[in-house]
Amino acid sequence: MKYLGIDSSRPRIAVFDLTGCQGCELQLANKEETLADFLNAVEVVQFREISSATTTSYDIAFIDGCVSRADEVERLQTIRERAAMVVALGSCACFGGVSRLKNDYDLDAAKREVYGTLKIDTEPVRAVDEVIHVDFKIPGCPVTKDEVERIVQHLVWDVPYHFPSYPVCLECKQRFTVCTFDTGQLCLGSITRAGCGAPCPAAGLGCWGCRGPAVEANIEEFRTMVKERDYADDEVAERLHFFGGFEEAQ
Ligand code: SF4
Ligand code: SF4
Ligand code: SF4
Repeated sequence: MKYLGIDSSRPRIAVFDLTGCQGCELQLANKEETLADFLNAVEVVQFREISSATTTSYDIAFIDGCVSRADEVERLQTIRERAAMVVALGSCACFGGVSRLKNDYDLDAAKREVYGTLKIDTEPVRAVDEVIHVDFKIPGCPVTKDEVERIVQHLVWDVPYHFPSYPVCLECKQRFTVCTFDTGQLCLGSITRAGCGAPCPAAGLGCWGCRGPAVEANIEEFRTMVKERDYADDEVAERLHFFGGFEEAQ
C-alpha cells in the first residue's frame, strides 16, 4: 500500500542538521521507552547523532535547523531531489527559530568584531520552506517527541493526525496550572499553537511562543489584553519576535 507516494512498509528515514543546536534531533534519540517502537516503525538510514552511516537513498528527510550558509542551500536542494517527503523538524527549521535573531544585526560588522579577518561563511537566516518545498512542519524548541511519533505513525500507517488548532491555554488549563498573568508574567499561550503540553507555564514561566501562532490566533485581542495589564510594547514585541514564528503578526 502506498500513502503520499511512500511505501507504507518501514520507510527509510534520514535526519539532517543545518544551523541550530540539534536539540530537536536529540529529542528523537532521547526517549528510550518508545525508541524501540520508533525504530520498528522506520528504518533509520542516516542520523548523525546516533549513527555514522550515510546514504543517498531515503524516503523521508527530517531537517533540523535553519538555513544560514550557501552550502546548506545546496544540501537542501539535493535532499529535496532525493526524498519523497521533507519534514521541517523544530522551530529553527519551521521559521528560523532563535537563530533568526541574527537577522536583526549587521552581519558584516558582527563578523569583523568577532572574527576579525577570518573568512566566515554566514548569511541571513531562512526557514527551510524559504528554500525548498516542505511537506510537513513540526514546530517547537525543541519538538515534542510524542508529537513527532504521532506524525510518524500518520506517515507510516496513515493513522489520522491533526495538528492542534487551539492555543496552549487549553493544555495549560487541562493541567490546572495557575495562569502566569496572575503571577505577573507575560505569556503568549493564548495565541500560540498547542501540542507541547504547556510545560513552561507549569514551570512558572510564561510561554514564549516557540511553536508559532495557533490557527486563527486573535493577535489584536492579545495586544488589547496585555495593554490593559500594562505590559510594555517593547516587552511584548521582543516576546513575539523571539522564535520567529510571529513575524507576520508584528
Ligand atoms: S528548534 Fe530549538 S531545540 Fe530545535 S534545533 Fe532549533 S534551537 Fe535547537
Ligand atoms: S499561563 Fe499562559 S497558557 Fe496558561 S492560561 Fe495563562 S495565558 Fe494561557
Ligand atoms: S509553553 Fe510556549 S514556549 Fe513553552 S514549549 Fe509550549 S509553545 Fe513553547
